[in-house]
Amino acid sequence: MLIVMHHHATAEQIDQVIDAVAAMGLKAEPIPGSLRTAIGVLGNQGYVDDSSIRTLPGVRETIHVSKPYKMVSRDFHPEPTIVDVSGVRFGDGLNPVVIAGPCSIETEEQMMIAAEQVKAAGAQMLRGGAFKPRTGPHSFQGLGVEGLKFLQQAGKASGLPVVTEVMRIEQLDVICEHADMLQVGARNMQNFDLLKEVGKTRHPVLLKRGMSATIEEFLAAAEYIVAEGNSQVVLCERGIRTFEKTTRNTLDLSVVPLISEMSHLPIIVDPSHATGKRSLVTAMSKAALVVGAHGLMIEVHPDPAKALCDGAQSLTGDGFAELMVDLNGLLGYLGYSV
Ligand code: PEP
Ligand code: MN
Repeated sequence: MLIVMHHHATAEQIDQVIDAVAAMGLKAEPIPGSLRTAIGVLGNQGYVDDSSIRTLPGVRETIHVSKPYKMVSRDFHPEPTIVDVSGVRFGDGLNPVVIAGPCSIETEEQMMIAAEQVKAAGAQMLRGGAFKPRTGPHSFQGLGVEGLKFLQQAGKASGLPVVTEVMRIEQLDVICEHADMLQVGARNMQNFDLLKEVGKTRHPVLLKRGMSATIEEFLAAAEYIVAEGNSQVVLCERGIRTFEKTTRNTLDLSVVPLISEMSHLPIIVDPSHATGKRSLVTAMSKAALVVGAHGLMIEVHPDPAKALCDGAQSLTGDGFAELMVDLNGLLGYLGYSV
């Protein structure tokens, strides 16, 4: 349940409501807004009898939210959340953020070249996987901690904050030491223990949509992180599995405006994993910006033909530079300041 206070409600009236909620054995989470304060009620299993709350002074209305997510919903928090990754900001009203880099960290040199290329073309963040969730155990599994070092060095050299995937709770400490943002991949979107531990860190999180996750499940996964006190979550649509096999996944672009209606969290699009095809990345990147994505995550490799993972969907440095020129033209047209 959400309790919406009058704009003129006093601090004492807000405290009185919080006490009344606590007296019902539930937790009250005040959410101060620019116009009024709302108070989220957490911990209830079913419908909450609000008769004793509705009549308290300063209460404007109560809204029953029977969804598995509350803290990430717009009802709970009407203002957009801005996620700040070492100075790079994602969210409503801000220019879309482009994250680029290889699927996997392979060598120090590969990471350095990739970082230079994406930085020169205008990317604001660098990506690269050190712990790779591969479909089969015989595929390259990533360089692990050694790879994190290469990523960190390349980030420092280029001045770009870095994001990398965490697959297990035990990896969290070392990844937090080396990266600015934690990625939870599609395959771990419902690894609830991992989500809780990620939520206990104060690192910003990039949460990718599970390949068969509904929007409600996607938001409920984000709720796990936010409920632990970490509200710095960026959502990422990366395509869902459908009957269509020509593309690797099916990019569900409608979730971008839909999630912006349902949630205050920023949402970005990964056209590389969504399509699996280099030739489709530019068109789908543009489409993502047109529907209001707060950013893009794009795979770029200095030599895609030799990539140890996802070469077919990776752009070359030159290909990425061309894409960025195209996107800049579009940004001006869409009314962003460029
Ligand atoms: C990735 O970004 O490297 C990745 C593995 O993506 P996803 O989890 O979306 O498949
Ligand atoms: Mn990949």
